[in-house]
Amino acid sequence: MKRVNTMGEFDSYFLLDTDSVRRYAVDALRLFSPGEELVSEEIGDGNINYVFRVRSLRDGRSVIVKQADRLLRSSGRPLDQNRSAIEAAALKLEGELAPGLVPEVYAYDPVMAATVMEDVSAYRNLRLELMDNRVYPHLSENLSSFMADTLLPTTDLVLDAEEKKRRVQFYTNPELCKITEDLVLTEPYYDYKGRNIITPGNEDYVRDVLYLDEELHAEVAQLRLGFMNNAQALLHGDLHSGSIFANETGIKVLDPEFAFYGPMGYDIGNVLGNLFFSWANKIFAQPDTPENAAALDALETCIAEIFDKTREKLAEQYNRLVTLPLYRVDGFRIKWLADVMADAVGYAGTEIIRRTVGDSKVMEITSVTDPEKRIPMERALILLGTVLIKNRAGIREGRELTEQFHWILA
Ligand code: ADP
Ligand code: MG
Repeated sequence: MKRVNTMGEFDSYFLLDTDSVRRYAVDALRLFSPGEELVSEEIGDGNINYVFRVRSLRDGRSVIVKQADRLLRSSGRPLDQNRSAIEAAALKLEGELAPGLVPEVYAYDPVMAATVMEDVSAYRNLRLELMDNRVYPHLSENLSSFMADTLLPTTDLVLDAEEKKRRVQFYTNPELCKITEDLVLTEPYYDYKGRNIITPGNEDYVRDVLYLDEELHAEVAQLRLGFMNNAQALLHGDLHSGSIFANETGIKVLDPEFAFYGPMGYDIGNVLGNLFFSWANKIFAQPDTPENAAALDALETCIAEIFDKTREKLAEQYNRLVTLPLYRVDGFRIKWLADVMADAVGYAGTEIIRRTVGDSKVMEITSVTDPEKRIPMERALILLGTVLIKNRAGIREGRELTEQFHWILA
């Protein structure tokens, strides 16, 4: 990684803007020469951080500078800046474990809480790509590789035990985990902060299916405590379709600022869960055209393949990387993998539910404004979420996972 020159203007923290980020790229990062004409813009679309692109008019070279402010961009509430050190380290590690599938990290500057990285603007937000029916055939291969390659090698099954504990310590990310613990794993079932946003007409449905179902609560409690206690692997932590960028040639995974040691099913479940929004949107809100039908077909195949290929690649890696004889006995190995995949199905369920009733909704839902479509679409998603949570141990194949939604839609 490049060294950052922190003398002068950039010797203590301040929030960058499009002017200072150009000086930063020249004086602190020395990525461009003094005299070189540069253009810069702020391209962040998230609600947490600031993302700048700086580009040379001389040769078109560009870099991304992502800065974490002390305050949340959306609400102004304070948020631990150390998240940016965690993000930069996680991104770098993911790049080593899954080469080519994340932007390259050029430098990390703890003073400015800034990560300097490769500009991957040639790739586009997967959520938008799927909305536009671009369901790339390579997605299941690349996403399953990303997960298997970044997750299994960071576990106690593979890593030296002391090194693993140092990493658990470094990647302890309490404030970002609390966001997930509250918004994903508590409030959709127990709205104690009154932050859920329920579409008018669905109040009774949400009360009966989410707030009053004790059997569901018992399962969510298990997933919640698993998220908090099962320091199994270094997770990306926020692996929704808006953190995945894609084009015809491949994918780039961005934004691991929620990285921490948790259950690997959480990452896998986030990927799987988010794909169902696109499916639901096409079924409930898009016309029945041949293009939409083809995209639906491809999406369903993609979901099933991600499940199957992730499991297969984890099994293959396990065979290759895990050496302790105790861990290699079938009686343990098979159950371990089944538990990971059951977690994945469960966390897919919690993700689907929180994006439907929580305040962090997805565009596939919010773009549907006609209540005649929105109400049944949300109900189908909520029901799917509960079915996945409750039946998670019984779903063993990708096609069994997609079947669950077919039954609900039937
Ligand atoms: P936040 O943590 O605020 O959610 P993200 O890391 O998701 O920030 O980045 C916000 C947006 O900035 C992304 O959706 C993407 O459009 C753009 N972006 C971030 N990193 C890069 C990059 N390396 N190359 C190109 N665009 C990027
Ligand atoms: Mg983001």
